[in-house]
Amino acid sequence: MNISNNKVVSVHYVLQIDVNGEKVVADKSDLENPLQFLHGGGSLLPEFESNLEGLKKGDDFSFKIEATNGYGERDASAVIPIPIDSFKGENGEIDTEMVKQGNVLPMVDQEGNQMQAIVIEVNEDHVVMDFNHPLAGKELFFSGSVADVREATKEEIDHGHVHGPAGHQH
Ligand code: ZN
Repeated sequence: MNISNNKVVSVHYVLQIDVNGEKVVADKSDLENPLQFLHGGGSLLPEFESNLEGLKKGDDFSFKIEATNGYGERDASAVIPIPIDSFKGENGEIDTEMVKQGNVLPMVDQEGNQMQAIVIEVNEDHVVMDFNHPLAGKELFFSGSVADVREATKEEIDHGHVHGPAGHQH
């Protein structure tokens, strides 16, 4: 059975990115729990799905996705200085273990949306935070193998996601 729309696909994969000219693993599936998804369900990067189209169980894959088709280019306006008072705790102190360069902090925007941002710099008045996705601006190098392909049930197609042990339980 080949991968096409409305198939439930399981893949083992490794995602690598280029850091200073060297390939570094950014993400990978768990050996015992391959990534499972409804092909055509729109939950993954479209180009990830299109590169798997037509493959079958046991096939290997290796492909690259440009940043624009991955997590987008880096947006310089998403690097924002935030007044340091926002980072003070109830005691008026900064938790310097948390608020330090390179740490990822949970942030909330004015609409109450939760997001994550990386601390770029801490100075007297401001903390410079980078709200870009960590993989923004990166070419994505995926490789792996197809662990399974099966027909989706009508219910899975209606819901747009996979049911069962590795999927939604309901
Ligand atoms: Zn469901």
